[in-house]
Amino acid sequence: MFQQRNPATGETGDSFPELDADAIEQRIARAAAAYAEWRLTPVAERAALLSAIGDRFEANRDRLAAIATFEMGKTLGSAKAEVDKCIAAFRHYAEHGPAMLEERRIDLGDGKAAAARWYPLGPVLAIMPWNFPYWQVVRFMAPTLLAGNVGLLKHASNVPGTAQAIEDMVREAGGADGLFQNLHIPSSAVGAIIDDPRVAAVTLTGSEGAGIQVAERAGRNLKKVVLELGGSDPFIVMPSADIEQAARVAVTARIQNAGQSCICAKRMIVHADVYDRFRERFLAGMKAVRVGDPTADGTDMGPLSSEQGLKDIREQVERAKAAGATVSSVGDAPDGPGWYYPPTVLEDVPLDEEIAREEFFGPVAMLFRAADIDEAIRIANDVPFGLGSSIWTTDAAEQERLTRDLEAGMVAINAMLASDPKAPFGGVKRSGHGRELSSHGLHEFMNLKTVMLD
Ligand code: NDP
Repeated sequence: MFQQRNPATGETGDSFPELDADAIEQRIARAAAAYAEWRLTPVAERAALLSAIGDRFEANRDRLAAIATFEMGKTLGSAKAEVDKCIAAFRHYAEHGPAMLEERRIDLGDGKAAAARWYPLGPVLAIMPWNFPYWQVVRFMAPTLLAGNVGLLKHASNVPGTAQAIEDMVREAGGADGLFQNLHIPSSAVGAIIDDPRVAAVTLTGSEGAGIQVAERAGRNLKKVVLELGGSDPFIVMPSADIEQAARVAVTARIQNAGQSCICAKRMIVHADVYDRFRERFLAGMKAVRVGDPTADGTDMGPLSSEQGLKDIREQVERAKAAGATVSSVGDAPDGPGWYYPPTVLEDVPLDEEIAREEFFGPVAMLFRAADIDEAIRIANDVPFGLGSSIWTTDAAEQERLTRDLEAGMVAINAMLASDPKAPFGGVKRSGHGRELSSHGLHEFMNLKTVMLD
């Protein structure tokens, strides 16, 4: 049984029965049957379905947002913005996706030619997290349906209502039976689905541990896997930057979604010449964050999504302190029910301690001083992750150097990093592999067939 539990109050909501082995089998069979039809459906029709799903999201915007806020605690405003982003992604792929699937002609010389054509692969299993419970799913679903694949979703256990709502939107939009199905299953049931020969490929967004297990299983079956895992993104501030602006954005970047985002800026690495100026503004900004009821107007940040998440972040801060870190700023957070944690800034975290390399999945920032650009790059790269980064400098040579040398899948220059349907999204190192969004995300789960033409 999957039970909704409100992180802001602890109150329970609806419960959803767990699928047994027979029900899982029926759904995989339905997915395979749907794929047999959908792969032959013209791309224009597939695009029209995406538009229709986007319309259903738009018509249900407030209700969808309220479910996410109830289940995982993000502010209602940010939940609505997330639904809007999903709508934009459906429309982007509906409008521009068909052109991404056009064949490419290759001149082989001697009067010969080949074509490279895109074909779908089959049912794709998506294992998704709770932090952006619509967006994480939609950024998989929109391109995969356009490609001609069908989707099976194993969503995080704490967002069963969101998972159900997504399946409902596809059905209401006219999606065929089996085209996109939610599976209310625990993670222990995932392995057998990966093994199933009818399932063509797997994508996972989540923790490193889950990524390792899923990738191992997919590897054993020689199935393609895309992994979007954790990150401990650097936010580098150099002397030429607009320090006021950088500090303001650093606060937003660190506390968005209560710090529970893979591409939140987590380590602020600041040049010594501007460290004190940045520090003063950043600490003041973190202290001023309004933490509280996520449904109330004016709340900047709600609770963490789970009791376990709260325990984890508390334990990490204790370990940082034991290792010699200083807690420089602690904001306010409500007492009583709810898994709230205050915006917190750590300084003097020893770089040779393991804690400096960990991901904090909550509103805790680590602030580091760098003597020069070389040291900033060294600190930035000294983590197992390589997802996003944000660099603050108006010096063109520094922008080039940082963009080239940061071990990251994405760099934002003088801006907060955010995903966009038009741009590829993904990481290197232990942040995973493969790309989502843009034409690259669309092509991940497709067969690029070479046709030697007559
Ligand atoms: P998990 O990786 O545990 O959960 C993400 C998804 O994977 C959920 O659907 C979960 O299902 C499923 N899952 C977990 N273990 C397995 C497994 N062995 N086999 C198959 N599926 C599995 O993340 P958490 O929610 O526990 O968050 C913990 C950490 O994960 C965070 O601190 C952060 O580092 C990282 N994370 C990263 C995200 C990102 O956006 N890249 C998003 C969320 C988390 P179930 O809920 O049933 O366990």
